[in-house]
Amino acid sequence: MLDDFYLEQPLAVSILKNSIKKNKLVHAYLFETNGYSKKEDFIFSFIKSLLCPNNFFAFANCENCVLCQQLDDRCYPEVKIINPDGMWIKKEQLDDLQQEFSKKAIVGSKKVYIINNAEKMNASAANSILKFLEEPVVNVIAILVTDNMYQLLDTIISRCQIISLKKNFIKSDSELELVADYIFGDSEKRLEFLNSDDSVDMINNIKNFICYYEKNKLSALLYTQKFWFNYFNDKDKNQFAYDVMILYYRDVLNFKVGHELAIFKNDYDKILNIADSMSEYEICSKISKILEVKEKIKNNLNLNLLMDSLIINMERGEVND
Ligand SMILES: [Zn+2]
Repeated sequence: MLDDFYLEQPLAVSILKNSIKKNKLVHAYLFETNGYSKKEDFIFSFIKSLLCPNNFFAFANCENCVLCQQLDDRCYPEVKIINPDGMWIKKEQLDDLQQEFSKKAIVGSKKVYIINNAEKMNASAANSILKFLEEPVVNVIAILVTDNMYQLLDTIISRCQIISLKKNFIKSDSELELVADYIFGDSEKRLEFLNSDDSVDMINNIKNFICYYEKNKLSALLYTQKFWFNYFNDKDKNQFAYDVMILYYRDVLNFKVGHELAIFKNDYDKILNIADSMSEYEICSKISKILEVKEKIKNNLNLNLLMDSLIINMERGEVND
């Protein structure tokens, strides 16, 4: 679904979702893809939002729908894809399409055609598509895709809504790398951590645990075994996990005081909820309690008890303050 791309393409996703919600679809979109590697998946996700009845308003992932399956297999008959034939996209390639698509679509259903590498339309192809864009057919949506928008005719550009995709996410902006930077600096451990298959899972487990604890408070004690100690079963992992907890609560604090989130931007909603449920003072007090517990890891043989005592301390802190 389109939301799957929100982190990488927030603007494009918002624009497209809004136009669907407000029923303000246009008949021609020009996707300026800027080398975005998931452009095809993105565009098909948009098409699913247009065509799949389950997807249309809910923006939820659709399961087991024949239409979505056919779209995934690129064989849905009402979506035509045109690619350059050799160096160019030729007029003949567009003629068949136009003939077929100029018939009205079946009532209520939409037809879509995609022209990949639209900058490769030769002059006669470009003129022919231009006519098509000038006389739109009800329920037919054109999607032009290009990495080089300025190689297209101005007259074509001006008849399309432009959806500009951002280049790929720069990796150093990722949560994983930011966590690595904060915790390991530029030590060797940083690379080891980034190359490990478990790192993302570890961070997710910690975040899940925090959210679970914030929701259930003292009752979370019943699940420290399941949600904590099953994953964090030695001193190094505990040390790391408490560090991540500190970073997470620091972002809660960032939110609370109106600063930008430093690391966990993906968790905006969760962080908002946590920040709403406590004062700045309480957040600081939690951070200092995590620091205290972290200090005890070196001497403590029972790591599980440490987490239990942390939860109790954090809760007690809130009552007393
Ligand atoms: Zn579907």
